[in-house]
Amino acid sequence: MPITRFAALQEAGSRKPVQRPETLKRVSEIYGEYTFNRASMRDFMTEEAFKSVISAIEKGTKIDRSMADQVASSMKSWAISKGATHYTHWFQPLTGATAEKHDSFFEPTSDGGAIEKFTGSLLVQQEPDASSFPNGGIRNTFEARGYTAWDPTSPAFIMDRTLCIPTIFVSYTGEALDNKTPLLRALQSVDQAATAVAQYFDKNVKKVTATLGWEQEYFLVDRALYNARPDLMMTGRTLLGHDPAKGQQLDDHYFGAIPQRAREFMHDLEQESYRLGIPVKTRHNEVAPSQFELAPIFEEANISVDHNSLIMDVMDRVALKHDFKVLLHEKPYAKVNGSGKHNNWSLATDTGVNLLSPSKTPKENLRFLTFFINTIKAVHDNADLLRSVIASAGNDHRLGANEAPPAIISVFIGSQLTATLDELEKLEKGKLTPEQKTDIKLNVVGKIPDVLLDNTDRNRTSPFAFTGNKFEFRAVGSQANCAQPMAVLNTIMANQLRSFKKEVDAHIKEGMKKDDAIFNVLRDYISASKGIRFEGDGYGDEWVKEAEKRGLSNVKTTPHALDFYVNDKAKEQFTEARVMNEVEIAARHEIMLEEYAKKIQIESRVLGDMAGNHIVPTAIAYQNKLIQNVKGLKAVLSDQVYNKVAKDQLQMIEQISGYISTIISEKEKMIEARKECNKIEDTRKLAIAYCDKIIPFFDKIRYACDKLELLVDDELWPLPKYREMLFMGS
Ligand code: ADP
Ligand code: MG
Repeated sequence: MPITRFAALQEAGSRKPVQRPETLKRVSEIYGEYTFNRASMRDFMTEEAFKSVISAIEKGTKIDRSMADQVASSMKSWAISKGATHYTHWFQPLTGATAEKHDSFFEPTSDGGAIEKFTGSLLVQQEPDASSFPNGGIRNTFEARGYTAWDPTSPAFIMDRTLCIPTIFVSYTGEALDNKTPLLRALQSVDQAATAVAQYFDKNVKKVTATLGWEQEYFLVDRALYNARPDLMMTGRTLLGHDPAKGQQLDDHYFGAIPQRAREFMHDLEQESYRLGIPVKTRHNEVAPSQFELAPIFEEANISVDHNSLIMDVMDRVALKHDFKVLLHEKPYAKVNGSGKHNNWSLATDTGVNLLSPSKTPKENLRFLTFFINTIKAVHDNADLLRSVIASAGNDHRLGANEAPPAIISVFIGSQLTATLDELEKLEKGKLTPEQKTDIKLNVVGKIPDVLLDNTDRNRTSPFAFTGNKFEFRAVGSQANCAQPMAVLNTIMANQLRSFKKEVDAHIKEGMKKDDAIFNVLRDYISASKGIRFEGDGYGDEWVKEAEKRGLSNVKTTPHALDFYVNDKAKEQFTEARVMNEVEIAARHEIMLEEYAKKIQIESRVLGDMAGNHIVPTAIAYQNKLIQNVKGLKAVLSDQVYNKVAKDQLQMIEQISGYISTIISEKEKMIEARKECNKIEDTRKLAIAYCDKIIPFFDKIRYACDKLELLVDDELWPLPKYREMLFMGS
């Protein structure tokens, strides 16, 4: 039995907020209780095993076999003490969020009993039945099997009575089949490159870590209403639905009042996150009704990425308890603000310095400027690659579709730092006189901290903005796995810093002082990367024109944006930093294109079904009512009166007929077009065909359906309406 709109509305309307338990534990009591963090390791491990894990985490050393057995055994004891019965290697395949295969700790013994078993080899490596995970042809070409391998840098955790062990997923020939492996390689690459550059300023720096703080936006919708919307269930977004009379026109304060049900959900989600050691802070006031945000305190990028993948899962589970569904899609509702996932990124040294944080002394600020300007240069040179890595069917609804941010990649740094860079750009080439150096250090480099304090003009339309002590990559989609943008950003930064070091060292070899050399290279970079800097309104048409003049790309659709992922420049970036080889790059390209085509195909089918099976029959039923009514009028009224009063209703009948015909004929044409598309064998051409030939039908069909929503008797309408899904009451 399908869930009808009114049954769903009744169910949704009768919900009571889930009560919090009477006695709540303090955050400090529960924080990290479900993670095998350093404290629990210390409790459960021998000193020797503990040291070997810490060294693996910090220095990347290998854990030998006997030690792995010890680690596994202590992990098992800890997990069982927390009620776990199963364990799993937890990994991030190339599509979808996370994957796991559960095995029980218990093994039967020959005497009919059972023991709890978990060995080092089971911890370190497993072979999941991975044939169903996308591999973009890697496994067909190279090796039939893949395996998962423990990533000791990300703590194991317990979810659903299962010990989850974060792992990478690679083929037996070593190609990455997941999102984590390239990320780890990129992080290692940027560590090496950034450490070498950081040592210009402080010889004590031995390690640089990339940091990430994501901000996850999402919508909540009642579970019953969600279940009554086939489009939400199958595609994650509404394919039909007229925007509500009351949208987001009212100012933010209106949405400031969070319905209690949502508050209870957020509270519960926070508690679960704390237990898993995810340092979140929920945010309440997003732009759209029923839209919320969750953001943690930043962490080392690999852990932060895992935490984001994990939390997307946790959100779903917690939501169920509160009879909600979480919508992570970038655009669940047309004409309502969509969802993104800002990636706040920086680099931190093992000496406790944030390399993108301005400081007090000219020396420290030269270091800041070095990393700051190198980031801008890296983005300038690789804007297209950054664009490609955030491309997805869902994100196409945001980027370039009159919503934050545009599809044109640019960097915002604020007026104060713009002025600083302008000053530095004026520096003379070659050696600087002592006076020039003193002047620039005191009056330009030394001035940064003061000025940044009043840098209040934070531009919300920029896809890549400097926000005081970090860059914020804002164009990432809300469903995305941050591993992908983080892998790319750290890759291009690693390569950039390596070139920088080469150039500076060359100047030094020619006899320049280190500072002079650094100033010289930075000055060149400022000029070379100017075109990527933009401080204005990213939404305006003017920027589109200006960007075109500057030669910046403005690619609005995924299959075309993905070309940037596999061009020579991109390949050079990935291979240079040893993040991916050409096979791995090509495989990802193939998978992303395939995923895109599949998504559009599913949307097209669901839309066709809904328009044909829900909307058309409803419109006909209502049209019949009108016809009956008109017939009745004719029977009881004189011709003269009838002709006057029936006019409007006859017109409505005609209007409805028009929309019904449009739906039926456009739907047929769409099906035919799909058949044509499906003949295409080349994945890229297939994705482009779906983009160019199928998507245009969506708007035409939707337009007719949404018009009918306004015309047809509310009582007959089968689908929960926007106003019912977006406003959940108090
Ligand atoms: P917004 O104003 O965009 O909502 P906030 O300034 O409140 O953003 O913080 C956004 C995120 O930036 C938080 O998750 C925070 O932890 C993160 N962040 C702060 N400093 C750093 C850093 N050095 N590296 C990475 N992320 C950081
Ligand atoms: Mg932000």
